[in-house]
Amino acid sequence: MYLDVHAHFADEGYDVVAERRKIVEAGVKRIILAGDTVPHSASHCETARVCPEIYFAAGVHPSETAGFGERSLRAIEAMAREEKCVAIGEIGLDYHYPDTDKAAQQRAFSLQLELAHRLRLPVQIHSRDCAEDMLAMLTERKELLTGGFLMHCYSHSEEMMDSFAALGAYFSFGGVITFRNAKKAVACAAHCPPDRLLTETDSPYLSPFRGEKNTPANIPVILSRLAQIRGEGEETLKERIWNNAFALFGRLR
Ligand SMILES: [Zn+2]
Repeated sequence: MYLDVHAHFADEGYDVVAERRKIVEAGVKRIILAGDTVPHSASHCETARVCPEIYFAAGVHPSETAGFGERSLRAIEAMAREEKCVAIGEIGLDYHYPDTDKAAQQRAFSLQLELAHRLRLPVQIHSRDCAEDMLAMLTERKELLTGGFLMHCYSHSEEMMDSFAALGAYFSFGGVITFRNAKKAVACAAHCPPDRLLTETDSPYLSPFRGEKNTPANIPVILSRLAQIRGEGEETLKERIWNNAFALFGRLR
């Protein structure tokens, strides 16, 4: 059975009923929807309540941290007490754009790491163009990582991967590994420790089919490419990834 540990459904124009049918028919049996804002996390929470195979993570994305404070934290905490909330996320750092308020991002990231630790939940981490700061922050605050953590759509180097793995990281790979010029992501997908490997789509973004809106139904394509990259059998890999997800996300059923 396949699973997608990171996708977005809120505000993305999906017909959830039709989409679900397509996903289940493709053999994708668990989907974790990741929050990027409080309202989107709440929307995912509602979807998870009515769809047995859908779970969610509640959190605020680094690019959405303007105005992040007590109110946001309380809202995330309330959602995190739902039984189908499997993680706090996606949280982290994103220095991609030149006008980034790094201090605001670091503060929101810290506060959400503290919340995850207090609730004994894993976190889903978004980390782009910030490898040094991310590693420094996680190293400095490693006592907060006891619930485990996922580096979603991993985009740093293989060397960095070893450092994150030493802190307990899991890594998920998606459509990017199917792109022709994705040398770095492919090298990391090959390098990832077998017991830390996961699959995601980051739907609606990063479809393996350029120009199309992504869907968790594309997980089989991603897993097949991952098996090819790693020189492993698809069935073995599929089963291991399933077990890895259950090892990290203790609330998955
Ligand atoms: Zn995402």
